[in-house]
Amino acid sequence: MEVFSTRAEWRAANDEARRRGGSVGFVPTMGALHVGHRSLVEAARRSCDTTAVSIFVNPLQFSDPEDLERYPRPLSADLTMLEAAGVDLVFTPEVTEIYQRFPVMPETRITVAGPAEGFEGGGRPGHFDGVATVVALLFNLTGPATAFFGEKDFQQLAVVRTMVADLGMAIDVVGCPTLREDDGLAVSSRNARLSAPGRRAATVLSASLRAGAAVIEAGASAPEAESTMAERVSAVEAATLSYACVVDPTTLRAPSELIASQTYRLLIAAVIDGVRLIDNMGAVAGTAP
Ligand code: AMP
Repeated sequence: MEVFSTRAEWRAANDEARRRGGSVGFVPTMGALHVGHRSLVEAARRSCDTTAVSIFVNPLQFSDPEDLERYPRPLSADLTMLEAAGVDLVFTPEVTEIYQRFPVMPETRITVAGPAEGFEGGGRPGHFDGVATVVALLFNLTGPATAFFGEKDFQQLAVVRTMVADLGMAIDVVGCPTLREDDGLAVSSRNARLSAPGRRAATVLSASLRAGAAVIEAGASAPEAESTMAERVSAVEAATLSYACVVDPTTLRAPSELIASQTYRLLIAAVIDGVRLIDNMGAVAGTAP
């Protein structure tokens, strides 16, 4: 495994990988890696000749400077994990390698309207502009044939897919299934910040999604599924619901009515112990009995 910290070396290493005739599979991350990230690496290894991973905590997508400061950066553990997972190339740039005039931020930003609005974009103005801008920049430095993102951050995946389609980027975007703990909780580095009771309460997110999905699959409406999810969460005292919604999986808009056999996405977010947790699940609409 080779590790690079400058954009010139990174570009050269990826150019070389492509020159050898191989496809580059790219996994962008912010580090603090866990089994969810590893599953993206495994997907890249299965379908591409070279697996390239970036570790960069992107200041442009944080609105709260304390949040950015607090973000874990266990670089040596991350590198050990990536090496064991069989990664070929790792990019660990300083912020000035990415934003060359930092702390002055780039003049150019990418705004993806539609899917970036509401949900995780709602209370955080500029969050998805920061995500789209850094992803486009990393795509330009890396030149991947395929890029791998987790369905865990479903809105982020929808934003990246929309950007790639709208700007005609020749990159295949692959969404990988969410890795979960045995009790259903989606794996996230944030889970470590939960107290023991908070950790138990956190299973309500995936349980609510399953219940909401069952309602849709039985042929009921989106508002019925949304109330089922909200009721589940309100029964857990430790959890405060941010949203529980049924959306179109591409536009993330609320469907006017559900069409049988079509796939929808259920999105949920709740705060437990001051930690904001998100999760989502797909469901195929059934026919009302
Ligand atoms: P992050 O480092 O949090 O920016 O995440 C990097 C990538 O890992 C994103 O595409 C995430 O969606 C993905 N990811 C995070 N958690 C999981 C998980 N539990 N299962 C699958 N992918 C995940």
